Amino acid sequence: MRLDWRQIRNIAPPPAPYAQGPTLAGPPRLREVEPSAVDSLCRVMLSQVPGLRLPAPNVGFFECYDPWTNTIVLPMLPSRRERQRILLHAMGHARGGEHAEGLGGGPWREAWWTGMYKARAERDAAGSLVSSDAGIGSGSAAQRQPRRP
Ligand SMILES: [Zn+2]
Repeated sequence: MRLDWRQIRNIAPPPAPYAQGPTLAGPPRLREVEPSAVDSLCRVMLSQVPGLRLPAPNVGFFECYDPWTNTIVLPMLPSRRERQRILLHAMGHARGGEHAEGLGGGPWREAWWTGMYKARAERDAAGSLVSSDAGIGSGSAAQRQPRRP
């Protein structure tokens, strides 16, 4: 997949409420890799997310957010401004926003992984309250039919 990295300049910033504020799962881990490696790394990482269907191979990733490991994959870009722009966009995903495919140009909406994080938090809270109850904690929220970040 060949990406035109000049398009990074057009990547949309996330709208409110995904433009600022806390992320869903604490500060995401950042993985900065060679631009040419972003798409394949994103596909490998996102293929580990239960139930997530990857986009067609002709849809390339400029960045991605992996909600399973709370990791943002970013291209190492020489321009600070472009790096900031793409990080701002990816942080929108870490705050629980997702959008239609294609450079983040589509409308944003609440991402399916917000439900996954809520279920995890509830499971953890339940686990700490009744840790001896072996029946709690087999949550399967991650097995819903998610879309790509
Ligand atoms: Zn995006």
